[in-house]
Amino acid sequence: MNISRRSMMIGAVGAAITMPALVLSSTAFATTEVSADAVSPQTALQRLRLGNQRYRSGDTIKKSYSPPGSKYVQGQWPFATVLSCSDSRVDPEDVFDLSPGNLFVVRVAGNVVDNDVLGSLEYSVEHLNVPLIVVLGHSMCGAVAAADESLKSGVIPAQYIGDLVEKILPAIRPLPTDHSLATAVAANAQQSARQVQARSAVIAKHTSDGSVMITQATYGLGSRRVAFF
Ligand SMILES: [Zn+2]
Repeated sequence: MNISRRSMMIGAVGAAITMPALVLSSTAFATTEVSADAVSPQTALQRLRLGNQRYRSGDTIKKSYSPPGSKYVQGQWPFATVLSCSDSRVDPEDVFDLSPGNLFVVRVAGNVVDNDVLGSLEYSVEHLNVPLIVVLGHSMCGAVAAADESLKSGVIPAQYIGDLVEKILPAIRPLPTDHSLATAVAANAQQSARQVQARSAVIAKHTSDGSVMITQATYGLGSRRVAFF
């Protein structure tokens, strides 16, 4: 199944180049039921945009949870992978108005990249044939704020929080000294996206043939809006 899903997806990418631009209304994906059908990276991104639109407007879809014995037990067919912060206010399935089974989610404070994160992302691409990876930062991120504070004070927090901070520092060190936290959050998400591409040969192989896209975004806690950039 996986092989055919991938090959269907690559075909869809090629088709998207030659077809006229599709006009997608908010009802185009008026379901959050899981589907094993392959989708292109662009379609996956559009599903996320529309899901966040529903979430913001309050016009959300009733979620489908898996009853025992359903197809959810047989396998998983997520259409996007999200690397997000662990912040309790940022729940990717809620933010994109999706039922369980649609998103492969990796969560770690500050949405930083390490070997285990890369292994999880590679699994989603290589074995689940996910066409889209989104690095999702968010406003008022405590992990990024801690790194900002370390940059100013020159003091790295003790123990493993220090490891997290040291992963974020290279993203914010080049910024102007008076940068905002929002700028630091965006720079950190961009750094993680770059690291995924640079460090994973498995993922880079798929981004180079167009079957996978990596993008980054910021979620606004107040606005509830996801801004892709
Ligand atoms: Zn955070």
